[in-house]
Amino acid sequence: MESYLPEPYKIKMVEPIQLKTKAEREMAIEKAGYNPFLLRSEDVYIDLLTDSGTGAMSDRQWAGIMLGDESYAGSRNFYHLEETVQQLTGYHYVLPAHQGRGAEQVLFPLLIEKEGQYVLGNMHFDTTKAHIEMNKARPVNLVISEAYETAVDHPFKGNFDIARLKEFISTKGKEEIAFIINTITCNSAGGQPVSMENIREVYEVGKQYGIPVFFDAARFAENAYFIKQREKGYEDKEISEIIQEMFSYGDGLTMSAKKDGLVNIGGLLAIKDDFELFEKCRSMVVPMEGFPTYGGLAGRDLEALAIGLKEVVQYDYLHHRINQVRLLGELLKEGGVPVQEPIGGHAVFVDCAKFLPDLPKNHFPAHALAVALYLESGIRSVEIGSLLYGRDVDTGEDGLSELELLRLTIPRRTYTDNHIRYIADSLIQLYQKRSEIKGVEFSYEPKILRHFTAKFQFARVPSQ
Ligand SMILES: *Cc1c(COP(=O)(O)O)cnc(C)c1O
Repeated sequence: MESYLPEPYKIKMVEPIQLKTKAEREMAIEKAGYNPFLLRSEDVYIDLLTDSGTGAMSDRQWAGIMLGDESYAGSRNFYHLEETVQQLTGYHYVLPAHQGRGAEQVLFPLLIEKEGQYVLGNMHFDTTKAHIEMNKARPVNLVISEAYETAVDHPFKGNFDIARLKEFISTKGKEEIAFIINTITCNSAGGQPVSMENIREVYEVGKQYGIPVFFDAARFAENAYFIKQREKGYEDKEISEIIQEMFSYGDGLTMSAKKDGLVNIGGLLAIKDDFELFEKCRSMVVPMEGFPTYGGLAGRDLEALAIGLKEVVQYDYLHHRINQVRLLGELLKEGGVPVQEPIGGHAVFVDCAKFLPDLPKNHFPAHALAVALYLESGIRSVEIGSLLYGRDVDTGEDGLSELELLRLTIPRRTYTDNHIRYIADSLIQLYQKRSEIKGVEFSYEPKILRHFTAKFQFARVPSQ
């Protein structure tokens, strides 16, 4: 890995973690019904459940916390945040929200004009999809087909399929489209980036038909780093220039600040120049999130976010961040473990249909591997496959997901490369004895959002 430097920080405060004994891990996971979501975090050694809100803040952010102005209206921290977002994005109107979904619940009802309208995305994130459906509109995924093939290499697997986008609009008619939402990086496709060329083309299509284009910008800085690395003409551009150009091809954004905001809680809604839309959002924010200068956050949170947004665009930070995730992917590949390629920005995805080819889909191979990985080494990971997908609403049929993936999500600035090596070694060891890994089946299956609260037992039928 060329010019791969160590972590671009030194550690000033530590949070001890402890690997519980094998017997304690067996007890903990049994008590959790073999569902890692139900583990207590103190029983987890390395937590790769999510990169959302799990990162470490810097000394400057913690210093900013002490500068919190907790006035109900007009907090100075809001003005600092507003100015930071304006400079970063070029968008004039800024509203804080308690999380990304807080911004979504304010904006989406104002963009959806009538029942049954479509919202076109590369690939909608869960909460985005839910907010669209709650407003009786229909989310449509128009990501390029390469995104669905884990072994195919493509530098920008998060790209929109522009031909399908145009065709969809011209067949349905532009009045039937509420808005276009461009998710950077594309989380649900595995943290895969969207190219500048594609971002520009999507915006041109929007302009041509008079359809607003918004960003779901949770990982905007990671996306900019990939553009600098992979897209011709951007090698020598500053990250901040790339970010400004990206956002110039949109009418506004919603953002979960729990990712590239480098804070533990927070969100943003920003609008380029549409004052009318901003006014409507501002009135909605009050009953839903809070007064427009705090939006559900404490003054100190606004300050930490303003500082985080300045730190996340630093090249040294991003270079290490993306390459740390890649390091995990490369180590796993060297050990023979099948992973999704290319490695995305925030997580490595293990292809469990290949890792455990003998387990049937209804014995949840990726979930079985998550349980085995916890038992083996105290690492918590998460299934993205048939368990998460759920049953067909009409037929009740199970095991329908196209992919059976185990997600190893890397929190920002939290673990060192040594932790990464431990994670890789643990999985490689499991790969070498993969024939011993048992499938799981439900002992309790809830009706909705089953992956959060379901309980399991080891599958009784030998799975071959
Ligand atoms: C996390 C996330 C959201 C939702 O944000 P929250 O802060 O969790 O409410 C929306 N879109 C994407 C792409 C995300 O990753």
